[in-house]
Amino acid sequence: MPLTKTQPVTFKTNSNEISTHANLVITVYDDKDRVKRALKRLGLFWLLSVGSIPIIFAHWVLVPGFFIAGPIAAMMVYRTSQSMDHASGQCPHCNEHITIKLEAKDTLPKWTYCSSCNHPLQIDYT
Ligand SMILES: [Zn+2]
Repeated sequence: MPLTKTQPVTFKTNSNEISTHANLVITVYDDKDRVKRALKRLGLFWLLSVGSIPIIFAHWVLVPGFFIAGPIAAMMVYRTSQSMDHASGQCPHCNEHITIKLEAKDTLPKWTYCSSCNHPLQIDYT
């Protein structure tokens, strides 16, 4: 089962004058989870490969495409040992408590916008 880890980060304004403390939530996958996720991804792509057999003309591309993309996608998922989930804390501009959804491949420092006041802010390690 994937573990959820919390790490302290800061929200900074674009002038770096004001910063507030925030928490970054990271999902950590152990070896068993990574294998399970990779097999699910491989199964999905191979299922799409089989499912695209009845599609006339397009199956010449889709069937081998999904069949080849399956192991590639599974390897990419297997290499992902942790993914960033979200960061939450107080906005340095408007002092509202905000939660910013992050993509799995995002890296810090990251520029984004406050969901409340729409000012730019930077998420960075403390
Ligand atoms: Zn704000």
